[in-house]
This record gives sequence, structure tokens and C-alpha cells, in this order.
Amino acid sequence: MSVRLSPDAFQQLVADALDNMPQEVLELLDNVDVHTQFWPSADQLEETGIRNGYGLLGLYEGTPLTDRGHYNFALPDRVTLFQRPLEAICATHEELERQVQVTVVHELAHHFGWSDEEIDRMGFG
Ligand SMILES: [Zn+2]
Repeated sequence: MSVRLSPDAFQQLVADALDNMPQEVLELLDNVDVHTQFWPSADQLEETGIRNGYGLLGLYEGTPLTDRGHYNFALPDRVTLFQRPLEAICATHEELERQVQVTVVHELAHHFGWSDEEIDRMGFG
């Protein structure tokens, strides 16, 4: 059993997850857009080397703050939350809320220049 939300309701969950982040963290975000898609695109799957669309819950694309030595006129970083894969692993609305929160933290941590290994160690893998 999994949860199914309307795209609007899912976007609201993501907005709430962002609101839950400490103010200190939100103030450090720089040129990053957070948005949602139903599924990862073929390009996004190829980029990550993940074959199964269900295997990707969120994605960070961009230039981490730690790599911005010569950073000018760049497109914003993009954090994408994938609605259907996230819904598929959650049995309840509360679980989905929690999973969205963990995924938002995970992808924003990449924006701050953390590796997957470091994020895993902090319990947001
Ligand atoms: Zn990651």
C-alpha cells in the first residue's frame, strides 16, 4: 500500500519540509530552486546511473557552494523531489512527510558540498 497525493498537495509537503529547516540553514541557501516531478526523466536516471525510476527519490543538480570559486551567471542549482517513487515507499501520510523531509535535507546537503557518504553518516542517506 502506498500514499497518493495530488501534485499540489505533494508540493505543499515539500514547502513544509523547507519551512521546517532551521532559519540558519535557509539563510545559507544560495541560488537553489526546489521543485517536484512525478518521475525522474531518462536523462536524470542516466546521470545517476540508476536504472529503475523507483530507485530515485530526489536529485541535486548544480554547483555545490564549496565549488563556487569562479561562479558567475550560473543557472540556479536544482533540487528535485520525485513524487511517485517517494509515495511508493510510504504506507501513511506521516511516513511520506518524514521521507520528504529526509530527502529535502539530503539534497540540500549536496548543495552545501557534502558527499553521499557524509550524508549517510549523519543519518540522512
Ligand atoms: Zn545523494
